[in-house]
Amino acid sequence: SPRSPRPPELQLHDVFIAVKTTRAFHRSRLELLLDTWVSRTREQTFIFTDSLDEGLQERLGSHLVVTNCSAEHSHPALSCKMAAEFDAFLASGLRWFCHVDDDNYLNPRALLKLLKTFPWTRDVYIGRPSLNRPIHASEPQPNNRTRLVQFWFATGGAGFCINRKLALKMAPWASGPRFVDTSALIRLPDDCTVGYIVECKLGGHLQPSPLFHSHLETLQLLGAAQLPEQVTLSYGIFEGKLNVIKLHGPFSPEEDSSRFRSLHCLLYPDTPWCPQLVAR
Ligand code: UDP
Ligand code: MN
Repeated sequence: SPRSPRPPELQLHDVFIAVKTTRAFHRSRLELLLDTWVSRTREQTFIFTDSLDEGLQERLGSHLVVTNCSAEHSHPALSCKMAAEFDAFLASGLRWFCHVDDDNYLNPRALLKLLKTFPWTRDVYIGRPSLNRPIHASEPQPNNRTRLVQFWFATGGAGFCINRKLALKMAPWASGPRFVDTSALIRLPDDCTVGYIVECKLGGHLQPSPLFHSHLETLQLLGAAQLPEQVTLSYGIFEGKLNVIKLHGPFSPEEDSSRFRSLHCLLYPDTPWCPQLVAR
């Protein structure tokens, strides 16, 4: 409302960061994140998984959320986790919701810089468009009819953010069991479902950003000078080859195949396990 006072300048602790993971990746992917960027965003980062893990529980405490979602790579299982993330964000009272996968590096400084550019009065859904055109879906209507809808959505694998103002409007289709229902209705994955709710149900728009990256793009194309400005990065296999950012040291590709440790030392040289530059 016009009478609500302007909130104070955005800080990192106003951002709720949700990481989606699964049992099989606790060791192979999550450890890397905890050692790197999550170590700088502990307070506001929550890890959503599907299985108990004593070691992780000890390390993360209440920041490990063991959902009742199944450990499957199915639309319902993945939407179930997104729903848990969304509900936890709503309950947190924080100003921004950001989702990432467990193969993303999230740069907290770049994230904060980006989120600060949005006036607090706007509805914001920002991320990397998955396709270069809107996706089509058929939306069931009464009397066995369907309606063809089209909308843009942000690739979940590159991470995306939504502000609270928009998230509250999404709740009728996204909170509690409704996110899974909405996803089932249009028969599309979790990230598409977010786009569908924002664009088709609320008339909002995805704000495209080139600062979010998944391993579905050629990550080597990013120049070294651009790396510190990116909000998210990723690594993985693409078209049969290891797809990672191009970055010199301090760790070799053998020691650090994702390049996340090397990137982290570039961004946070005071990290204890980073090779220290000795002043002399
Ligand atoms: N994931 C999950 N359950 C599964 C498989 C994957 O929650 O059964 C999560 C995984 O931890 C990651 C995301 O879904 O955060 C995407 O998985 P992955 O990177 O393996 O696949 P992609 O879709 O990127 O090829
Ligand atoms: Mn992935």
